[in-house]
Amino acid sequence: NYVVGIDLGGTKIAAALFDSKGDILDRARMDTADARTAQEVVQRMVDMIHTVAQGYPLSGVGLASPGAVNSKDGIVLHGTNLPEWENVPLKKWMGEALGVDVQVVNDANAAAWGEYVRGAGKGAENMVYVTFSTGIGAGIVLDSKLLLGTSSFAGELGHAIIDPNGPACICGNSGCWEMFASGTAIRDTAMKLMQTRPSLIASLAESGNEAVSAKHVFEAHKQNDPVAVEVIGRAIRYMALGLANAVHTFNPDRIVIGGGVSKAGDQLFPSLIAQTERFVMKPYRGTYEIVPAGLKDDVGLIGAAALFQN
Ligand code: ADP
Ligand code: ZN
Repeated sequence: NYVVGIDLGGTKIAAALFDSKGDILDRARMDTADARTAQEVVQRMVDMIHTVAQGYPLSGVGLASPGAVNSKDGIVLHGTNLPEWENVPLKKWMGEALGVDVQVVNDANAAAWGEYVRGAGKGAENMVYVTFSTGIGAGIVLDSKLLLGTSSFAGELGHAIIDPNGPACICGNSGCWEMFASGTAIRDTAMKLMQTRPSLIASLAESGNEAVSAKHVFEAHKQNDPVAVEVIGRAIRYMALGLANAVHTFNPDRIVIGGGVSKAGDQLFPSLIAQTERFVMKPYRGTYEIVPAGLKDDVGLIGAAALFQN
């Protein structure tokens, strides 16, 4: 059976045709920005699907969408980074245009499912997937099933409130986990300390002709820059604290870590593993492993397609 997976993003849309083994046979890509309305984006996705799947009998289309998604009815309720995406009935529109079953999931859930079926989550039974990126995304697989919940909003760990007196979050609350442990939080904390203390971070960003980001903080950390050491130490402590909460909530056998910040590799994982183990209660110790994600940029569309191939 052949399935198309689509990763709908604020800047680009990527589509790929998969065979039953999960191998990619063909792919297509387009910019989101030059399509104005949701109808226009849908029409272009339909065209992309016709292009990549030409000559193949399709058994389904899996779609990963940012924002709040009602997976049961296949409706994008509110598309973060997709202006004017409110209550878009993707499953209905695309199903009618294509004559196949269409499944829609939130992008973090798609990525979680992708890692579970084809990536670093393979063989696990209960998996927590966390992406440390601009924000923090997460998806949960329990008893080998993607956890969706009543409104298919389950797994929003990034907005777990860990300090009600913490910084204001875009979600309207204060002190969400992503305000302490995301790439943005790492950058913001570093910028604040750099106002009063000398640091390599600014010159590293400058020499790359880039705005300061978490990546530069990790680069400075490699050179033992005191500000970077402090900021990364604090960030990893908060990352670990959140993972420990997830261990207590879901009792996973595996935690898969993705997102841009996970590219820090050895600067991150040994310390994150040790600190999480320190935060978790005794009975949970040694019951789970923390591993880097196995899939790269394609994780969203791989997961979306794999909704039909579990
Ligand atoms: P997005 O949030 O748009 O999906 P990413 O998953 O790439 O993007 O995450 C972006 C974050 O990852 C930024 O905070 C960036 O500074 C950080 N980042 C990118 N590369 C690295 C790296 N090599 N080491 C640490 N952090 C990184
Ligand atoms: Zn929040």
